Amino acid sequence: MEKIEHIGIAVKDIEASNELFGALFGKKHYKTEAVESEGVITSFFKNGPNKIELLQATNEDSPIAKFIEKKGEGIHHIAFAVANIEKEIARLKGEGFKMIHEKPKKGADNKLIAFLHPKATNGVLIELCQEIDS
Ligand code: ZN
Repeated sequence: MEKIEHIGIAVKDIEASNELFGALFGKKHYKTEAVESEGVITSFFKNGPNKIELLQATNEDSPIAKFIEKKGEGIHHIAFAVANIEKEIARLKGEGFKMIHEKPKKGADNKLIAFLHPKATNGVLIELCQEIDS
C-alpha cells in the first residue's frame, strides 16, 4: 500500500456540504461524479496533495444511506493508493483480511477500487484504489 489517496466523508446533503467544505478549505470542489453501482454522488476537494471525497446516497440501499442511518454523518473511509489492485487484494486475502469486493470495480475519479471489510480492520473502512491508465 502507498500514500493515502483520499478520505471519504458521508454527508446527507452534498450541495450543502459542498458549500460548507468550500468555505472551510477556501476553494470549490473540482469535480462531482455519480457512481451508480454504489448508489452515491461524490464530490472532490483538493488541498495540496490531500483529497477529500464527499459522498451522498442516491437511494436507500446505498452503503452510504446505511452508514448514516447507523452512525450519522462523518468520516466513512480512508483510501490508499496501490500500484496493482489485483495483487494487493490477493496479498491481503493471504494475510487473512476479508474483502467486501473480491474483484476490483470501477469507482469515482478514474479509479479501480475495492473495499476491505471494516470488521477485519478495527472498524475502519479501507478502500484500495488504483489509477486507471488512460
Ligand atoms: Zn473513496
